[in-house]
Amino acid sequence: MSGTARCACTSSVEQTRAVAAALAPRLRVGDVLVLTGDLGAGKTAFTQGLAAAVGVDEPVTSPTFTIASRYDGAELTLHHLDVYRLDDVAETLDLDLPDLMDSGVTVIEWGEQILDALPAGHLVIRLVYGEGDDDRELHLDGGADWFDRLDGVAEVVSC
Ligand code: ADP
Ligand code: MG
Repeated sequence: MSGTARCACTSSVEQTRAVAAALAPRLRVGDVLVLTGDLGAGKTAFTQGLAAAVGVDEPVTSPTFTIASRYDGAELTLHHLDVYRLDDVAETLDLDLPDLMDSGVTVIEWGEQILDALPAGHLVIRLVYGEGDDDRELHLDGGADWFDRLDGVAEVVSC
């Protein structure tokens, strides 16, 4: 783990959503979050916690087949992307990331696949399976700037 990572250890989907909810008030338009982790690790669950916390009142589902969904919350707009199926750079450009960043917070499941297209200041949230079926480690790392902004977030469910 790098020296700028924060870590939470959750043992239920509700706890993972709670970590996301703690992050929500720290976010601002232009932020890009990369969610990385195996299938079923909780990337969509994390996004659901985020969405609820910024006042989105519709259900947030996995956007795997639509690539990108927009949710206008009372506090903030969330752009929810899943780039698992993106084939090439051209398709990545089609996402119009700069446009999305202008209007909200952009959350990208499997975003590590398009790192080259992302701004340097993005936050990576890596979800890792733990020992029990419902155990997950959440590693939040966006370098030194994010380290300060994340103060108190992972501690909601500390390891
Ligand atoms: P992904 O988007 O990473 O493929 P999902 O969020 O769609 O994963 O699914 C995560 C699944 O794991 C859900 O069925 C959720 O209920 C379950 N789950 C169990 N424990 C946890 C946990 N601690 N954090 C997140 N999800 C959990
Ligand atoms: Mg998903």
